Amino acid sequence: MAQNAVLSKISGPVVQATGMLGAQINEIVKVGESELMGEIIALRYDRASIQVYEETSGLRPGEKVERTYNPLSLELGPGLLSSIYDGIQRPLEAIRAKSGDFIARGIFVNALDQKKKWKFEARAKKGDSVKAGDILGTVQELDFEHRILVPNGVEGKLEAITSGNFTVTEEIAEIGENSIKLSHKWPVRIPRPYKEKLPLNIPLITGKRIMDTFFPIVKGGTAAIPGPFGSGKTVNQQDLAKYSDADIIIYVGCGERGNEMTDVLSEFPKLLDPKTKKPLMNRTVLVANTSNMPVAAREASIYTGITLAEYYRDQGYDIALMADSTSRWAEAMREISGRMEEMPGEEGYPAYLSKRLAEFYERGGRIKTLGAKERIGSVSLVGAVSPPGGDLSEPVSQSTLRVTKVFWALDANLSRRRHYPAINWLKSYSLYLDELQKWYGENVAADFFELRNKAMQLLQKEAELQAIVQLIGSDALPDKERLVLEVTKMIREDFLQQNSYDEVDAYSSLKKQYGMMKAIMAFHDKAVIALAQEVTFDKIVNAKEKHTISLIKRQKEDEALRTVNEVIKSLDHSFAK
Ligand code: ADP
Ligand code: MG
Repeated sequence: MAQNAVLSKISGPVVQATGMLGAQINEIVKVGESELMGEIIALRYDRASIQVYEETSGLRPGEKVERTYNPLSLELGPGLLSSIYDGIQRPLEAIRAKSGDFIARGIFVNALDQKKKWKFEARAKKGDSVKAGDILGTVQELDFEHRILVPNGVEGKLEAITSGNFTVTEEIAEIGENSIKLSHKWPVRIPRPYKEKLPLNIPLITGKRIMDTFFPIVKGGTAAIPGPFGSGKTVNQQDLAKYSDADIIIYVGCGERGNEMTDVLSEFPKLLDPKTKKPLMNRTVLVANTSNMPVAAREASIYTGITLAEYYRDQGYDIALMADSTSRWAEAMREISGRMEEMPGEEGYPAYLSKRLAEFYERGGRIKTLGAKERIGSVSLVGAVSPPGGDLSEPVSQSTLRVTKVFWALDANLSRRRHYPAINWLKSYSLYLDELQKWYGENVAADFFELRNKAMQLLQKEAELQAIVQLIGSDALPDKERLVLEVTKMIREDFLQQNSYDEVDAYSSLKKQYGMMKAIMAFHDKAVIALAQEVTFDKIVNAKEKHTISLIKRQKEDEALRTVNEVIKSLDHSFAK
């Protein structure tokens, strides 16, 4: 090691040290007499730039810097679920307990409880020849079967394996010379390996009609939710956490304002899993950055989140990661880059902003895991973006939209009108429609996409007609076009609008979504025929079925589907001349 590694300069969250010859990029170092945790982010000869994960005020040039020879890594093993961590996987509660509300410096707390004993049930047998990714055994983690795998890089004969109660650091097995424990470490900036990426053709079902029916996301897919303050980014992401059919949720919160993250911290633990009625935290890991935490920890939090997601993916599960909001992450990057006096790119963001965003979303996907017995796992990524003033031409939105495949465009006008979810149907898109056609056709209904596309065309037609209506009023339109306006109003109010706070309406199964769409489109199709047979427009729009359709969203699936059938039957009678 180089001699006399000492601090030479302090600039907020970034410090410089000299005498660092031989150090590695991304190596963790202990900075100053108080041993603050930092990571080397640039090296030039013996001079290192270090981002410090703790408050740097009080540090002085000349103080020592100590190498650890290790990259920023997570402790992975049972006990992650229901945890709340900061951006570098320090448990918030434990840190608070040690140091009060303000996070003290130089404190080290293990990410996993070191004393708790877990009941390990071996599945592999002594003498087996095993390799990375094979399941050694399982541990019951809350309601979840946590699979203990042969760590990456390890291969050989299983010399010993024992079922029983173990802490995360006690030996459960021996493979060749390697002592295997329930937990292991993994560097956050390195994607965990897998066998191969698989095609993305299975939906991540969200229960939100505008998402599943109009702009669906797949398991292993990527989505962006951009929107101005108060448009519903957090509500939508929390709903995805609650209702989407992922096994595990990783929620990375980067506080926008001081108290916003506090809200998430106090609210999230109260959320119930709608399927089990138990706390959602039982299958969640929360990574939280409050605004008083150092920006470097915020920069790291995204990597911490995705590494946690990959860890559970490798066990063969479907993970959904919500990042709320990636704009705050990008701002952390901007601040650190500025402190390093790098050449700024657009709006002061570093030139590598796009690359970092792309690398993050690239870590999503649906994969075949390592190991002899194949498992399939997925990581779906949903990133909120909060463009200043809602203007999507700014760099974070633009870089995000280049790499994500679903775009749920939140709209301030819709949220002002209390149309929730405030997702604009004309601006949003999903690039997974082609891949999903087969799945929806086989698993929901053969004509699912046909109905969806017809409804979408009507909504586009509505937008055109509205321009005319503004000039001349709707009464001047021919009946056929007035009918379009009536039906699209039904699509908007009875289908697209969905109340997150109504227990039944908050989640619609795909069958129910299809049924609702079928009822509305039947109303449309039969009304077109009736108009042609000279049934009056008034009779059509006053048909009682219109009201009945509006009630379906608040009916449970069985009742909803009965109503759909009744409506479709009775329409013929109501529309008769
Ligand atoms: P953002 O995170 O974009 O700043 P929020 O997600 O906090 O915005 O939403 C702001 C408010 O809008 C919420 O407190 C809630 O009252 C309302 N809201 C948003 N989405 C919905 C929804 N799907 N159903 C009902 N209310 C909603
Ligand atoms: Mg928010």
